[in-house]
Amino acid sequence: MKILLARLNHETNTFSPVPTPLQSFGDNGPLYGNEAYLASKGTRTGIAAYIDLLEQAGHQVVVACSATANPSGRVAAEAYTHLCDVIVAAAEGCDAVALDLHGAMVAENSDDGEGDLLERLRTTLPKAPIAVAFDLHGKISEKTMANSDIVVSFKTYPHIDMYETGAHAARLLLDMINQTIKPTMAWRRLPLLSHTLCSRTDIGAMHEAVELARAAEAAGMLGVSVLAGFSLADIAAPCISVVVISNADQQAAEQFADLIAGFIWDNREGFVYKSESLAASLQQAQKLAQAPGAGPVLLLDHGDNCMSGGTCDDMNVLHEALAQGLEDIVVGPICDPEAVNLLIEAGVGATMTVAVGDKVPLTQLGISTTPRNLTGIVARITDGEYVISGPTYTGQRIRMGRTALLQLPQALVMVTETPQEHWDLGIFSHIGIDATAHRFVLLKSRMYCRPVFVPLAKAVVECDGGGVTSSDYSRFPYRKLSRPVYPFDLDTTWASAMS
Ligand SMILES: [Zn+2]
Repeated sequence: MKILLARLNHETNTFSPVPTPLQSFGDNGPLYGNEAYLASKGTRTGIAAYIDLLEQAGHQVVVACSATANPSGRVAAEAYTHLCDVIVAAAEGCDAVALDLHGAMVAENSDDGEGDLLERLRTTLPKAPIAVAFDLHGKISEKTMANSDIVVSFKTYPHIDMYETGAHAARLLLDMINQTIKPTMAWRRLPLLSHTLCSRTDIGAMHEAVELARAAEAAGMLGVSVLAGFSLADIAAPCISVVVISNADQQAAEQFADLIAGFIWDNREGFVYKSESLAASLQQAQKLAQAPGAGPVLLLDHGDNCMSGGTCDDMNVLHEALAQGLEDIVVGPICDPEAVNLLIEAGVGATMTVAVGDKVPLTQLGISTTPRNLTGIVARITDGEYVISGPTYTGQRIRMGRTALLQLPQALVMVTETPQEHWDLGIFSHIGIDATAHRFVLLKSRMYCRPVFVPLAKAVVECDGGGVTSSDYSRFPYRKLSRPVYPFDLDTTWASAMS
């Protein structure tokens, strides 16, 4: 058989001012056809698992594209239409479809990026089985369910099972093609806006929900997924979902879906993160820094995380920390190409006053930012490159753009030309900073820094500085969101959850 594959991944924060043109997908735009095939094969991604398992089974795979972009604002209409056109055009003559999608894509011309694509594919190939592997933060829609046969998602966050999820979807697709199973799906979407900080799968309510999903699979269901959704999207239902696949037993699928959705609803408070004030978080950090023990206190500015659409230039946490008198802080990267340019022009050793950060207005939140000055010495300048030695994306070369270090009396401030996640200590060591040797380390990260930084830290303090990835949803002007929805409407009922 000829099987269409495509990878199209974007987690859209519709409140983010960071644009998402076609060029954002990949190092320099998406890859197509054989180039996409070669770049995907052998990686730990869902599409790589499709290639491995479907080729091993003797099928021919046709890779339409591999297009993945970091989280940011709505995908440009031209980019979305183009990528969907490429995938639909490649479907010509194919017998089955296996997609590696994120599930939380919103475009300028589509509130349901995956559902609209799946609807087009089903229209083009009405008889072809369609399997999809989603991120755990995917949002499931009526269109997605109506136009696919197999839906599975990651079971881990931080995500480490992308390949395994693709392999799961591939195995079910092969069994369906071989007519050894007849997948039938049940779906529950709860009126619950979950918080990303509460979707980690090692502790808490999400952990327990995923354990129930595993138990249902052990009890004979073909695939059981809990998708946290991605709430920073102003669409009707960016909510948490459960999808159960059974082998021709709709009733069993419905029962397990009810069981897991019921658990989630009964434990809905466990999916909601409660932010404290920034001032209180930093006071707590001061106290923790005085306690015995080695290592820095990590300050996680989860309100401005580039892996959820943050600009990485919100300066509230640093300025509050300076105002409260915290000392020996390492912070960065702050994304500010203009400041990098000025620091490099001044040169190492120069003392200068320069506006750093707060330059991208958060228009959707009604915030027009005002850059504030920092005065210090230009301590170092680098090309901003390092190779990850940590457990996530091991071996990958990271290019942050030109990078400069400004030394203030209380803090070392690293400024780069691009927004960055903290994959590894190399982000600091490449510029000569031993992050573990300082009192406070301020990172614009919520989850991905943890495998490397948390074991080295004395304590972790989550700080909500107020960027576009804040956990305080009351700051976001939702217009399309269906109500009632928990936790905005505390009287949201199970009856409305079931509708
Ligand atoms: Zn995710």
